Amino acid sequence: MNGARATSPVLVLNADFRPLNYFPLSLCSWQEAVKAVFLDRVNVVSEYDHAIRSPSLEMRQPSVISLKQYVKLSRRPAFTRFNVFLRDQFACQYCGFDFPTQDLTFDHVVPRSRGGRTEWTNVVAACSPCNLRKANKMAKDVGMQILRRPDQPSNHQLQRVGRKFPPNYLHESWRDFLYWDSELEAI
Ligand SMILES: [Zn+2]
Repeated sequence: MNGARATSPVLVLNADFRPLNYFPLSLCSWQEAVKAVFLDRVNVVSEYDHAIRSPSLEMRQPSVISLKQYVKLSRRPAFTRFNVFLRDQFACQYCGFDFPTQDLTFDHVVPRSRGGRTEWTNVVAACSPCNLRKANKMAKDVGMQILRRPDQPSNHQLQRVGRKFPPNYLHESWRDFLYWDSELEAI
């Protein structure tokens, strides 16, 4: 097939017409979308103006598709930098201010040097100044206070938080998204 704009992504909705995932937003390529249409796995909800063509086919490129069968979300979200920031709503958990992801770091509540582990219940979003100030100490030792005790969120919780942010809030490029979505090393 040719004639399609290779960069036009297709938004994938679950059978309930909600995005299959908000962060990262569930997208697929037009090739995958067309294949799914022909396998009768999805409905085309919306189309782009441009067409995709092959010798045997011409159709407008789908822009939004929905799955015919509802996919149950797994309950436990992946432990990634991105999901930690999402749980903490992109706010530093010490000063409480909101930051774009590139200005956020993650902080070990109990420092690693004191046996703190890299896990949901010990990692929070922190701005660089707060992270520097806290360094490898406990917050109370340096006169700081954590706003909320970190917990293991459910996928449902994260999706709810995700809906507060416009879909392209952070995803101007796929590279950013891939970087932030990489798994945290579990040490
Ligand atoms: Zn801060």
